[in-house]
Amino acid sequence: MRSELIEAATRVIDSGCYINGPEVAAFEGELAETLGLGRVVGVSNGLDAIRLIIRAYIETGRLVPGDEVILPSNTYIATLLPVSEFGLKPVLAKPDRATFGLDWRDVLRNVTPKTKAVITVHLYGTPSWDEEVASRLRSKGVLIIEDNAQAIGAQILNPRTGKYVFTGALGDAAAFSFYPTKNVGALGDAGAVATADESVAAVVKALANYGSSRRYHNDFIGYNCRLDELQAAFLRIKLASLAEVVERRNERARLYASLIDNPAVTLPSELPQMVQVWHQYVVRTPHRDKLQRWLADNDVATDVHYPLALFDQKCYASPGVAPRFDEECRDITRQLSAEVLSLPIATASPSDIEHISTLINAFQP
Ligand SMILES: *Cc1c(COP(=O)(O)O)cnc(C)c1O
Repeated sequence: MRSELIEAATRVIDSGCYINGPEVAAFEGELAETLGLGRVVGVSNGLDAIRLIIRAYIETGRLVPGDEVILPSNTYIATLLPVSEFGLKPVLAKPDRATFGLDWRDVLRNVTPKTKAVITVHLYGTPSWDEEVASRLRSKGVLIIEDNAQAIGAQILNPRTGKYVFTGALGDAAAFSFYPTKNVGALGDAGAVATADESVAAVVKALANYGSSRRYHNDFIGYNCRLDELQAAFLRIKLASLAEVVERRNERARLYASLIDNPAVTLPSELPQMVQVWHQYVVRTPHRDKLQRWLADNDVATDVHYPLALFDQKCYASPGVAPRFDEECRDITRQLSAEVLSLPIATASPSDIEHISTLINAFQP
């Protein structure tokens, strides 16, 4: 991998073309091809991918400031920030304890005449999708946006067609992140937008380039959110081993599942009719802080995704920007924040996993 990356860097350096060149175009095509996506536009990072999708829907009249957007209450804040940035009203739906993504029945309960979009987040690499609810919403004109930052390569069975579909190809538009620690990681910031709607892709592409699709002619008050040639060249190499990454992470998840046996610790569900990509391997326990300390004392570094709920963040404290959510959502979300613990998975060897599982089995709350 290292020598391939150096070779790619050399190729780009020697080409003299660093922005808007052949590597970005090739990567966009390869990502679309690998995942069965429509059009892909390489962009600067995952947050900008979500921003550009929402701004493009505003420019095309599909979203208007004041519209309500439903998203899961336990996601990373980057899902929510663009909703606020563009004056849309965030509504939080409670998470499903099996997938950690949206509880789709709670999405339906939160729909009002002002609901114009839902953002589903395939959190930790598990698809969050309900074909029946999604098509009902789409028939009412509600857009479904996927935050696929953690789930590249994940798949879910479409009960209608009997075919597996990659996340990122399920909704109206999808955001990808290639932050270095994501399952496909660049050597810096990078992201992508995918959509089957050519006109939306064209607006995203223009918005990411000062609002211009023709040099010195600006249709939108845009940004500079481009993916660069060097990162695209690295990403082409990383993308080529996506299937291996998914397989390796599934092996590790299966090993944890076969070894951890402690009544105080709940394992994440391996779910039928989908391919999970295990961006995080998240266990739950009411004694989370104690378990995390026990592992740290034994030199095992873990993480918490995420320790403070969106609605408890300082930046969302004032009533003017606070998302709407109900008490049940609040309680489940706070409980998850207090109970979740992400075990090492990205680089853990089978013997690391055996060691960590033995420690967890010896843990006494
Ligand atoms: C990483 C991440 C993002 C943001 O991606 P960046 O490339 O870091 O901007 C958005 N949503 C989720 C769920 C993420 O995990």
